[in-house]
Amino acid sequence: MMIKKNLSVIEKELPKHVTLVAVSKTKPASDILEAYNAGQKVFGENKIQEMVEKYNALPKDIQWHMIGHLQSNKVKYMAHFVHLIHGVDKFKTLKEINKQAKKHNRIISCLLQAKIAKEDSKFGLSFTEIENILNAEEFAELQNIKVVGFMGMATFTDNKEQLESEFSSLKTFFNKQQKRISLTNCNLKILSMGMSGDYSLAIENGCNMVRIGSAIFGNRNYNN
Ligand SMILES: *Cc1c(COP(=O)(O)O)cnc(C)c1O
Repeated sequence: MMIKKNLSVIEKELPKHVTLVAVSKTKPASDILEAYNAGQKVFGENKIQEMVEKYNALPKDIQWHMIGHLQSNKVKYMAHFVHLIHGVDKFKTLKEINKQAKKHNRIISCLLQAKIAKEDSKFGLSFTEIENILNAEEFAELQNIKVVGFMGMATFTDNKEQLESEFSSLKTFFNKQQKRISLTNCNLKILSMGMSGDYSLAIENGCNMVRIGSAIFGNRNYNN
C-alpha cells in the first residue's frame, strides 16, 4: 500500500512533460506489480540479469529502462526488449548495442551519460567526449541505435548551489547540442536527471525524465 501512496504523492509533484522512471533495482517483482497496478508502466533497473528476470516474470507492456553502468558482454541479454538505455559512456558500448539491436531488427534508444558530478567516482563522459562521439563518422554509421538524449547524476550532496550548477550545466550543453545536431540516428529530446533526493531541483533546471527509487519503494537493503 505504501508504494501506491508514494507514487501518487510524487506524480502530483511532476509536471506533465516529466516522465517518471520508477527505479525498482533490488526490489521484488511483487513491489513492481503494486506500482504497475497503480498505473506505473516505466521501470528502471541497474543490473542486466536482474532486469531480464523481471522482464520474464512481469506484464509485457512494461517499458524497461537500463540505468546502470553497462558491461558490453551482457548487452545481448536485453537487446530484444530494453526500451531505453541510460548509461552509455563509451563509443565501444554503442557499437555493441548497435550490433545486438541489428540481430533483432530493432533500433534501440540510448542516452549518453554525462559526467556532471564533481567527485571522481561517478561514470560518464565529459562534454567534449560526447561531442567527439556525435561528430565521428563512425557514429553516423550506427543505424540500429538512436541517441535520444543525455543522462546525468549529480554529486550526492545537500548543497543546493552545487546541485543546481551541475544540473544546469548539462541542460545548457543539451540545448546547444540539440540545435547543432542533425543526424538520422541522433534526435536529442530526453534529459534524464534527478533521483529521490534531488528531483525537484533537476526539474527546476530543465530535465524531462527523473529516475526515482527509494522515494517510491523505500530504502534498499544494500548500497547501490
Ligand atoms: C539507484 C539509481 C537511481 C535511484 O536512486 P534513488 O535515490 O533511490 O531514487 C537513479 N539513477 C541511477 C543511475 C541509479 O543507479
